[in-house]
Amino acid sequence: MLASDERPNLTETFKRLISATGPISIAHYMAEANAHYYGARDPFGRPGDFITAPEISQMFGEMVGLWLTDLWMRSGKPALSYYVELGPGRGTLAADALRAATRLGFTPKVHFIEGSAVLREAQRQHFPTATWHDSMETLPDDGPVFLVANEFLDALPVRQIVATEQGWRERVVVHNGERFLPVAGARDMTSIVPAAVAQSETGTIIESSPAAAAIAYEIGARLKSQNGAALIIDYGYGETRTGSSLQAVRDHEKCDPFTDPGQCDLSALVNFEEIGRIAASLDLGFSGPVGQGSWLKALGIEARAEMLCKANPEKADETRKALHRLTHHDQMGELFKVAAMSSRGWPEGEGFGA
Ligand code: SAH
Repeated sequence: MLASDERPNLTETFKRLISATGPISIAHYMAEANAHYYGARDPFGRPGDFITAPEISQMFGEMVGLWLTDLWMRSGKPALSYYVELGPGRGTLAADALRAATRLGFTPKVHFIEGSAVLREAQRQHFPTATWHDSMETLPDDGPVFLVANEFLDALPVRQIVATEQGWRERVVVHNGERFLPVAGARDMTSIVPAAVAQSETGTIIESSPAAAAIAYEIGARLKSQNGAALIIDYGYGETRTGSSLQAVRDHEKCDPFTDPGQCDLSALVNFEEIGRIAASLDLGFSGPVGQGSWLKALGIEARAEMLCKANPEKADETRKALHRLTHHDQMGELFKVAAMSSRGWPEGEGFGA
C-alpha cells in the first residue's frame, strides 16, 4: 500500500535548514517528520509499517460504538449530535463503531479531523458524505459531540528538556556530517521545570507535548460549551515520569528516530495525568486511564468474540487471536490506556469501574 513519495527528501531539507539556521528542536523535527510520513502513504496493516487496534479486528470499533451509543441513550438521545474523530486512519474504527451505533438508532453526523490527503481518500470510501477538517476550530457547535481519538495524540510532537551541568536545556537535533543526533541546545529552560524534578541528575529528560495539551484543552472547551463526551485511547502512562519515550517504527520494527526522518512513524507516550489535569481545570468529568484490556472486557468484547466465532467458525482462530492481542496484558491490554472526558451533568461512560 505504500505510495511512492515524490516530494523532496526530508533528510536533505533538514540538513540545509540546520546548516542555515542552526539546530532544530525535537518538537520541530517530530512535527515535520510525521507530517511528511502521514502525508505520503497509508501506513497501516500488513504491508505497511504498523497495525492499530481497529485494523486488528472489527470488535474494537464495535466496543467504541457501543460505548458512545450507551452515553447517547443515557443523555436523552439528543437528536442532533456529532461523531467527531481525530486522525481516523483508514476510517475502519468509525465504520465499525457507527455500524454498531446505527443498529441501536444512534446516527450522528460524521466529522473527521485528518491532515493526510491519502488517508482522507481512504476515509471517503467508507463515509462519502462526511465532513473533513484541518483542525477542531471549524467543527459545528450546535449539538453535543461524541469524540474519539485512537492513536492520535501519540503522533503529535513532544518537546524535551534535558538536565545539564549548566541547567536545563531544550533538546535539539543537529547533523554531525554523517547523521542526525539529539543534543542539549543553548536555550535555558530552567524556569519551566516543575519544582518536584528540578534537582534531577544530569542527563534526566523531561518530555511534554504542548500540542497534545492544546488538543485536550480544545476537546474540553467543546464539551463544556456544547456537551458530549470524548474517548481517548493511546499508549501512555497515568503518572508523570521522566525520560524520553520518543520511538520510531518502520515495517513493524522499532528503528532509530533520527535516521531517515519522514520514512518511519514517530510517536511518544501520552501523558494521561496531564489530560486529567486539563479536564479538571475545565470542571469536566474525567474517567481513567484504565488498561485497554480491562476496558474492552467491561464493554463485553469476550461475549462479542464468542458470537463471532459461532457465526464464522472458519475464522474462530483469527478472532480469538485478535481478542488476545487487543486485551492481553503482554499485548495491547496494559500499555494502551483508555480515558474519557465528559460534560458536567452527563453520565459517566462504561468500562471505568473497579
Ligand atoms: N486512529 C487511526 C489512525 C492512527 S495513526 C487508527 O487507530 O487506525 C494517526 C492518524 O492521525 C492518521 O490518520 C494521521 O494522518 C493523523 N494525524 C497525525 N497527526 C495529525 C495532525 N497534526 N493533524 C491531523 N491529523 C493528524
